[in-house]
Amino acid sequence: QVAFSQHEVDSSEGSAGPIKISGNENAFGYSQMAMMAIMQELPDINRYAWEESQALIEAIAMREMVPGDYVVPTAGSGPVLQMAAMAYAAPGKNVVSVEPGYTQLVRTFDAFGGETKLVPLNDKLEYDLDAVKAAIDENTVMVYLCNPNNPTGTVVDPDALKTFIRELPEDIVAFVDEAYLELADGGLAAHSMVPLVREGENIILARTFSKVYGMAGLRVGYGIMKPDTKAKLRKYHMGGPNKLGCVAAVASLQDTAFFEQSVSSYRSVRKMVTDRLDELGIEYAYPQGSFVFMKTGVPIKEFQGLMEERQIMVGRPFPPMLDWCRVSIGTEDEMSTFLTVFEEVMKGQGK
Ligand code: PLP
Repeated sequence: QVAFSQHEVDSSEGSAGPIKISGNENAFGYSQMAMMAIMQELPDINRYAWEESQALIEAIAMREMVPGDYVVPTAGSGPVLQMAAMAYAAPGKNVVSVEPGYTQLVRTFDAFGGETKLVPLNDKLEYDLDAVKAAIDENTVMVYLCNPNNPTGTVVDPDALKTFIRELPEDIVAFVDEAYLELADGGLAAHSMVPLVREGENIILARTFSKVYGMAGLRVGYGIMKPDTKAKLRKYHMGGPNKLGCVAAVASLQDTAFFEQSVSSYRSVRKMVTDRLDELGIEYAYPQGSFVFMKTGVPIKEFQGLMEERQIMVGRPFPPMLDWCRVSIGTEDEMSTFLTVFEEVMKGQGK
């Protein structure tokens, strides 16, 4: 039976089994307004999402303060990364990015015949924009920066990033992936590069409903870019979000109470984790997303195994930092359990 009352639905309940802090999913659930919108739409999924996808474009355009024809809704933001890689990759052409970083775009760029140039982070595990700049050559067609960076969670100074993008040669597109940016100190207002899209810079911005909005399984995301860039990507577009995704995303954008609750839960639990890591003397990168990247000093495969034996799933290896671990922020209870188990495992390793 489907529960329609707000009091009956709690999407964060019922997670028996191991604690999953491996995939940067939202442990706090998702908007109940979105859930209601999905339920109301269920009888009509025999029809295509004509009006619903238009309504989503309009809601996004209003949120981002860009014209509707700058918006490209997709099934999760991953397809924006992939479409851009497919559109720009060519033999002899390269994309410049960082390592460790989020690899979906660079892997696709490589699969479609392009080359990838990965630059190390600085000693705070932040972007070194000078090093990124130095890696650009006459064959560079794209720079991909994920802000906050995944897996490190660090953000780049917004003014420095704006200057960097404005100074890029005109024919190089800056791809800025803002999947987790709502969770940074100061949020989107302080950090987003959307003003540069409005200014007409050569930039593609990607955002998702999978993270702070908690709808990873529904697959809704979008790109924002100038219409001429959009035209370049068009032939790789495989289709937008489905009807339920469209209505849920529109409802999520209206549900400011859920948004604020999600952001504040993330920030408070993230702080609980880093406060404890400070007490334990564990090194970590200053986290601005929905995860913390920490130095365990234990080879990650081994660490994953030790945690899994204790019913905790942690993040995968992120070369070259193979004795660090990315831990997604779960609920307060989940993270308390994680911290207890973590301490025990580290002691067992003589750390
Ligand atoms: N970008 C970053 C930085 C991510 O970490 C992820 C997913 O983890 C994505 C994009 C793609 O997510 P989705 O396709 O669910 O929007």
